[in-house]
Amino acid sequence: MTISSYNPADPSDLVVSVETPGAFGTAAAVERARAAQAGWVKLGAAGRAAALGRAADAVEAHAEELAQLTVREVGKPLAEARGEVARTAAIWRYYAQAPYAPSGAVHEPAAGEGLLLTRRRPYGVAGLITPWNFPLAIPVWKAAPALAVGNTVVLKPAPEGTACALRIAELAGLPEGVLTVLPGGAEEGNALVSAADVVSFTGSTAVGQAVIATTTARGIPVQAEMGGLNAAIVLPDADIAQAAAHLAAAIAGYAGQKCTATSRVIAVGDAYEPLAEALAKALAGSPASDPAEPGTACGPVINEAALTRLTGAVDSARAAGAVVLTGGTRPERPGWYFEPALLEDVPAGHPLLVEEYFGPVAVLLRAADLDEAIAIANSTRHSLATSVHTRDLDTALAAADRLDAGMVRVNAPSSGVDFHLPFGGAKSASYGAREQGQAVLDFYTASRTVTILPAGSPR
Ligand code: NAD
Repeated sequence: MTISSYNPADPSDLVVSVETPGAFGTAAAVERARAAQAGWVKLGAAGRAAALGRAADAVEAHAEELAQLTVREVGKPLAEARGEVARTAAIWRYYAQAPYAPSGAVHEPAAGEGLLLTRRRPYGVAGLITPWNFPLAIPVWKAAPALAVGNTVVLKPAPEGTACALRIAELAGLPEGVLTVLPGGAEEGNALVSAADVVSFTGSTAVGQAVIATTTARGIPVQAEMGGLNAAIVLPDADIAQAAAHLAAAIAGYAGQKCTATSRVIAVGDAYEPLAEALAKALAGSPASDPAEPGTACGPVINEAALTRLTGAVDSARAAGAVVLTGGTRPERPGWYFEPALLEDVPAGHPLLVEEYFGPVAVLLRAADLDEAIAIANSTRHSLATSVHTRDLDTALAAADRLDAGMVRVNAPSSGVDFHLPFGGAKSASYGAREQGQAVLDFYTASRTVTILPAGSPR
């Protein structure tokens, strides 16, 4: 079989078309990666650190090429695409230090002489399954820590991000079998999670649940980061102009196709009216435009199915009595464009309030006070990131404690990630260990305890 990816801004532009390996070819690639692992470990800390550092250099040396490919393949606006490239290089460089980190600790025995050691060892082959929305950064934020601690990697990227994944692996230039990219879809993904020794998944909740089921049945470690239905809470004391600008970025930036994008805006008390006006204006000022233009914030959505689902949701909400304050239409131009939308009076239980739409659409909701705002924010299982907009530190800290979310951001858009800190959601948005930061190095290694007694010891 072959898979192809197309430019969302110009669906007649075929970006790449490649053969897929199928289930059999996937299993064979995992075996080749397993055979390469001993050699990769043998390179030692200095060898692996140097290799990851060279991967960072290569990204920097091809930064503009990678940014343009990202714009073309997934419709990411140019400014954000350049940001993703810079972050990808930084992630390689950050984890290039990790091989030098201690891999264990020495302890005193509880009784008698001897030495107790804990050592963390790599599992073998890390099977990585990634979505298309960060087609460079997500593959690297999984691969770099897995490689740093001595695993080899087989990566199955989303079909829509195939060219980006192939190019980033090619530029890394790692030894044969150390970082393999397998283009493909569900068949290859399923074969990979059925053969790898440790699995890291990012994608939709439904697929994530299937990956968790397969890997837990096999008894291998798995982490999964899935979809979000993220809220923003705006208190009456907030700087409304700043909040509206941050929310517009979190709703419409990259056409809302970030797991941390805001889709529910909860205005508390008197914040409602001024926020509704300022936010509708800010969204109208960020129309869906050509992602190749440096000033564009909202490009196209990924494909026709996504566009059809979005327009259908807005139409059904309108039919159910919702008011569309701005956007929600498809502009007259080729490409999968959808004008950023803000709706109010959406009836409780409407799919826009229950499911992730992964597009530039948000619902404005009213809360009497902070308690009610937190209850609304927490009323979903898809609890990834929440933003809180207030000038009051006590309110911000109270909200940060009481919100069910992996990430709480104060006076900032819900979207945004610092790769050197743990990243992940709460409830059904996340399963297993956190990604990123130093925490993930433990995920890609198993701890073993070694007891050494003096030779001839009676014990
Ligand atoms: P998706 O779930 O459709 O696909 C994700 C990956 O899983 C792809 O590589 C796909 O080919 C693969 N896959 C599909 N079926 C499979 C199967 N049966 N077994 C194994 N693998 C399979 O998601 P997508 O459309 O590529 O990405 C968008 C989704 O990703 C959104 O829900 C978004 O919220 C989520 N996401 C989450 C995070 C996070 O960190 N929480 C980050 C980015 C994206």
